[in-house]
Amino acid sequence: MNAGEGIPPREIVTAFAELGVTAFTTTRADADYALAEPDASPAALAHWQALLASFGAAVPRLASARQVHGTRVIEHGGDWHGWVRHEGADGHLAFAPGTAMAVTVADCVPVFLATADGVAGILHAGWRGTAGRIVTKALDQLAARGIDAARVHVHLGPGICGRCYEVGPDVFEQLTGWTTIRNRHVDLRALLSEQAKEYGVARVTSSPHCSRCDNDRFYSHRAGDSGRQVAVIAALPRP
Ligand SMILES: [Zn+2]
Repeated sequence: MNAGEGIPPREIVTAFAELGVTAFTTTRADADYALAEPDASPAALAHWQALLASFGAAVPRLASARQVHGTRVIEHGGDWHGWVRHEGADGHLAFAPGTAMAVTVADCVPVFLATADGVAGILHAGWRGTAGRIVTKALDQLAARGIDAARVHVHLGPGICGRCYEVGPDVFEQLTGWTTIRNRHVDLRALLSEQAKEYGVARVTSSPHCSRCDNDRFYSHRAGDSGRQVAVIAALPRP
């Protein structure tokens, strides 16, 4: 079988279109965006450059980072051009249109955030980011800039589902606060959704897809893939 055959190259967050925000997660049919350490292949670098170019002149910059399963969320201004890859961060926020931001995922959940007035962000949340409450961290940073959670729409992109994600007792306790003596299944998107709603986010939507169940469509770390899809968001300047 030819992986990705007949599959659209992007899963688009259609609910964000009315906010003037472009948001999507790529599929196998697009490209492998994994950047091998320490030397990324020219092909992978070209995919990232093409990703930025696909936005055209309205979005002249693309922010990304080497991800470390932490909770650092970088805030981006609009005074630069091109593609940058920061060191050691798992989230990005921009308070004005014109900045694309991306995280790479393959089972971890891409968390998209947007408002109707040009604020956007994206987070990479595996179990560590979920246990560390990276969603709360991002919402705190928005609140510090006067952006109330009630104005924020959160979308949880394709990631591993509760049926596919089994964790040991220690991870389960860190995620839920409940002790157990055996392995348990956890639904990261359910936990992330809870965290967002607890904070006061008005609207939380979710992809119907699991990277593991839908492994023909998405890369899955647990299925043994080294490839990565990219989840991207950009608020578009108003014409
Ligand atoms: Zn699944």
